[in-house]
Amino acid sequence: MRTYRTLGEIRADIDRNQLTLVDLVKSYLQNIEDTSHLNIFLEVFEDEALAKAKDIESKLKSGTSGRLAGMVIALKDNICYAGHKVSAASNILEGFESLYSATVTKRLLAEDAIIIGRVNCDEFAMGASNENSAKGLVKNPVNPERVPGGSSGGSAAAVAANCCLVALGSDTGGSIRQPAAFCGVVGLKPTYGRVSRHGLIAFASSFDQIGPISQSVEDSALVLEVMAGHDSFDTTSSKLRVDKYSEYSDFKPLKIGYIEECLTNSAIDDEVKKTTEQLIERLKTKGHAVEPVHIEELKYLVPTYYVITTAEASSNLSRYDGIHYGYRSDASEDIDSTYRLSRSAGFGPEVKRRIMLGTFVLSAGYYDAYYAKAQKVRRVIKNRTEQLFEEYDLLLSPTTPTPAFPIGSNTNDPIKMYLEDIFTVHANLVGTPAISLPLSTHPESALPIGVQFMAKKFDEKLLLDFSHNLMQSAALKK
Ligand code: GLN
Repeated sequence: MRTYRTLGEIRADIDRNQLTLVDLVKSYLQNIEDTSHLNIFLEVFEDEALAKAKDIESKLKSGTSGRLAGMVIALKDNICYAGHKVSAASNILEGFESLYSATVTKRLLAEDAIIIGRVNCDEFAMGASNENSAKGLVKNPVNPERVPGGSSGGSAAAVAANCCLVALGSDTGGSIRQPAAFCGVVGLKPTYGRVSRHGLIAFASSFDQIGPISQSVEDSALVLEVMAGHDSFDTTSSKLRVDKYSEYSDFKPLKIGYIEECLTNSAIDDEVKKTTEQLIERLKTKGHAVEPVHIEELKYLVPTYYVITTAEASSNLSRYDGIHYGYRSDASEDIDSTYRLSRSAGFGPEVKRRIMLGTFVLSAGYYDAYYAKAQKVRRVIKNRTEQLFEEYDLLLSPTTPTPAFPIGSNTNDPIKMYLEDIFTVHANLVGTPAISLPLSTHPESALPIGVQFMAKKFDEKLLLDFSHNLMQSAALKK
């Protein structure tokens, strides 16, 4: 079967009677099996997906189908789906089944999406390589010796390996955009509050957002349009009107600032730098005004992010106590040993490291020095970014300093791993939307390189219009 890159292509072939939805699902199931060595899927909802395909096929025939009919989606294993297991790739949630569906899951299903399975990720979404999963690491479909990125590594790999059309990820500090960049697909982190977090297993609640990973900007736009909007179950979800992201406006010259500190950063790979510079020139010839801008605070972004997110995580993860959810240690004797033994055995090393770090920065003696200070820095960065957006429509940077790194190369050095997030945490600290686009590949390794665009809060429409246009002109050039 041919590889479909957009829902539009699938629907066109169904309309022409050249494709049935059941055959499409079967071919994804086959691809899942053929790529099982990459360890992408934690569970495949085979029978359910096939039954749904039949059902939606007849809705398509009778003209009663939803907007996502024909779209096959994988869920990151931290997004709840009623009656299905969810584990955040952690042993502490062993055997746990969701009692309710996340709002995003409900909204996708209501528009006739088919959910084909749940995919691997870093434990509790903490990581940048998918090597922190208690369910084993994921390999990058482009080059299986490389990591797929994280924490939504399974989601990006599933789309890149053609195991589904779209996958949902979550992004706290780059977890949608970085794996999308590493696997050569599109990844969109919406504005904080654009999409409900109800039913997303919490990592850092003032950062987390759910978003799509797809082959095309069109599909990300459509999925966002379906998922976005107020939800009474999440008081941080915005009541602002949801734009028609899936309807594109014509080309419009924009004012784009590229963050110079990203390109002069010592961590950046030469080729990543070169491609970004080439893109800047291309954008200029297309009629955009592209200028350097400065975020002198760049070096403070990663430390600020790790102080605040670990603080929030230490609080969010206190609910896994060996009593309420999933795993309980057999050796427990009383309440104290139930907590201690269950948490000691249930959490992996990175999660424990973050709980300890978070507890430390919140502790009475250190609160002012770390947590309160980091909040102040967050405010400074927010103000600076908002100032830039008064002048610029978009901010540009590479998504990541390097292409996908070899499996195992960063695992012994958490600080090195944390620095992978240097360009992505910005959008989460300030709450703006950001997208990673697969615009080039490394000339030697052939690994994908992503470029990131950030827009003002709730300016997804402009971000997606621009991205759509850019991807189309890039495709024309090929
Ligand atoms: N790599 C970052 C971290 O480890 C981002 C994770 C995320 O966005 N969920 O925290």
